Amino acid sequence: MDDEKILGILKNFVGEKTTFKKISEDLGLDKDFLINEIFRLDTEKKLSYLALGDGKIRIGAILNQDSIEKTNLKKPKQTTRMIKISCMNWRDCPGATDKSKKNSEGLIFRISSRSLYKIINSTSILKCPACSSIVEYDKSSLPLGEDGETIVSKKRID
Ligand SMILES: [Zn+2]
Repeated sequence: MDDEKILGILKNFVGEKTTFKKISEDLGLDKDFLINEIFRLDTEKKLSYLALGDGKIRIGAILNQDSIEKTNLKKPKQTTRMIKISCMNWRDCPGATDKSKKNSEGLIFRISSRSLYKIINSTSILKCPACSSIVEYDKSSLPLGEDGETIVSKKRID
């Protein structure tokens, strides 16, 4: 995404008290990506913003604001984050491939982060659909919860 596009989008928020979270949700952009972009654009003096604390911000102005075309916000489609799940029984799992075995993984499959969250907070245990062995999930792919911790950090699958 080039600067003009980002600035065109951010123009929608000029003067408004908003949050990084709200902007990223409205745009369907990753929040950390957005924050980095806003920091960078601020450093490059392409925009100015005010941090109001608690994640609240106000975008004060955008460089050459009048010449930047405002990009209309389309409500982004809700993107589903798919979490990678790996069977740990790589030696015997019928779903293992040569490649997965190299990483000591059996069957690899993906489920939505929402589903994973619900399973973890239930009394059920997620098992490999091919061999019913224990599975591990890729924690680096988990989205952050409201409290800033990963949504499943409170309770583990394994
Ligand atoms: Zn398996």
